[in-house]
Amino acid sequence: MSILKPDLIVTSISSINLKAYWESGKRGIILDLDNTIIPWHIAELNNEAHLFLKEAVALKYKICLLTNAGYKRTETIAEKYAISYIAAALKPRKGAFLKALKKMNLQKEEVLVIGDQIFTDILGGNRVGCYTILVPPLSSREFIGTKFLRLLESFVK
Ligand SMILES: [Mg+2]
Repeated sequence: MSILKPDLIVTSISSINLKAYWESGKRGIILDLDNTIIPWHIAELNNEAHLFLKEAVALKYKICLLTNAGYKRTETIAEKYAISYIAAALKPRKGAFLKALKKMNLQKEEVLVIGDQIFTDILGGNRVGCYTILVPPLSSREFIGTKFLRLLESFVK
């Protein structure tokens, strides 16, 4: 089952220490799209994901969006941040991840794989031997936020 185990689990994408990974030799990020940096069917990044991408770009990470989703939204975001992408990727197939490594011209040891799904992002990343980071899906983060808000509301009623 270790093939399904992320190397790191974080509570939010902003708690990933990009600078420390850069200093330890990481140079690239394979990044999931839906529910990792944007909610489903939305083409706008929230502020947290925006700052994360900005920092990664500023640190000179090579970034490849790797998504099973279609091209249109993926391309829009990739163009905005001047990063590469592979859409309709058929994760967790190894081929998708190897293609991303090739696109970035990096070795597996130099690359972080970040995503919200064990059976696509983490499994695929582990298969090719990258360092894998699991983030909770944005939709559940929002769900938790909503629940918390309701709880607060019930107190002030
Ligand atoms: Mg996802």
